[in-house]
Amino acid sequence: MAQDAADEYEGVCVRYACKCGHLAPVGSLFYSETCLKPVCRLPRCSVEEFESYYCGNLLVNLPSKEASMYQNRSSRCFSCPTCENVLSTAFHDAQQCFFFLCAHCRWDSLALGLADDDPDALIMTAISRERQSAHEDIFQALHSHYSTAPSSGNTAFSVSASGASFGRSNSLQSLADSMKELQREHQMKKFRLQRMTEMGGWKYDQALTKVQEKEQWLLDQRREHQWPELAKQLKALPSEGTSWSSDTAVKSREMLEKLSQQRDMGEISTLHQRLLNPLDQPRDAALLFPSRPLLRVKRTWRCVESIERGSAGILVKPQISPMSGDSSLPVSASWFKKANLAVHYLPIVTFQRLPYRVEDTERLECVLLVENPLDDVIRITFRADPAVSADDQEAAENGQVPSPLLWNLQCVMIAS
Ligand SMILES: [Zn+2]
Ligand SMILES: [Zn+2]
Ligand SMILES: [Zn+2]
Repeated sequence: MAQDAADEYEGVCVRYACKCGHLAPVGSLFYSETCLKPVCRLPRCSVEEFESYYCGNLLVNLPSKEASMYQNRSSRCFSCPTCENVLSTAFHDAQQCFFFLCAHCRWDSLALGLADDDPDALIMTAISRERQSAHEDIFQALHSHYSTAPSSGNTAFSVSASGASFGRSNSLQSLADSMKELQREHQMKKFRLQRMTEMGGWKYDQALTKVQEKEQWLLDQRREHQWPELAKQLKALPSEGTSWSSDTAVKSREMLEKLSQQRDMGEISTLHQRLLNPLDQPRDAALLFPSRPLLRVKRTWRCVESIERGSAGILVKPQISPMSGDSSLPVSASWFKKANLAVHYLPIVTFQRLPYRVEDTERLECVLLVENPLDDVIRITFRADPAVSADDQEAAENGQVPSPLLWNLQCVMIAS
């Protein structure tokens, strides 16, 4: 545990030290029961894994395959282009049609012509409008290419030079990994079958040929979606829509002139709004279409040191469907299967009074509150940080600290 009182009043904060040397607020640390230590969120200390994807509005879980199919967007709800709240479908009495309406800012889709006699058809229209974009095809081609391409860094990023990669390397990598996993499973199955034949008793030749066929099919599938398809799609891109051509400079100058005449800046879309709609990016705020909100993830955190020791080392594991079960029982939902947070294990140190100078002396004083969430006895040691003052090494058990600049506070749990 370390305490940083760099200035008398400014930058006064309590930071907890992870074993790796990283200092962090206690709220962001986990606690590993296997290694008996706080664990920080840096990749060298803990690994994070996506457990499931879900839509924050519909509260439905999606497996990773479906999530990537929807390009990490909600499957069927849209958010308001102005305020990003989720849109509801409303019925227009005069026009006898359903349309999107923002209950928060009263934005509606009537001006865009996004209306239909059926609420489901309305959603389908909005989704198929997204699908018509040229970039959508490119994305799908890239997606299938990377999900089947032989994974490992060198090939996975070769396309980024042409500007077609959007920093999705992580999800692409994980897709490639899942493909590898599939093959590994397949290998295992083959191995099992082979062993069973060796043990005799049954005729597994037929099963084995089937497995071999499947293997061939997997290989074919991989080849099919690779470069030829991708190259074709990328070549088609420049001829469509938004790409640069010789008259682009003139056009954008004209556009800028027109924009400079504009007085009401509310009519021009903001950069943020355009990024929410990366495939259209209209300048005119009236032309902004509702976009689908991004999916959220539930994450599992695991302790690196515990993994190295051979245990699962799970620090936090979310409940995938926390609200499922018998609703007649008075049991409140639990959001986590496991949540080992440092606040439940480590003494919490807070300032009751910030450091102040004692009158007519050089001394600084402060009042600390130490709360122990466990029943164990703790011993508190104050120590000047050796990095700051090499000469003030002696520890003081009575709470008098020689150098106020930066000092360590060590709490040792004494097993009772
Ligand atoms: Zn750490
Ligand atoms: Zn949604
Ligand atoms: Zn709105």
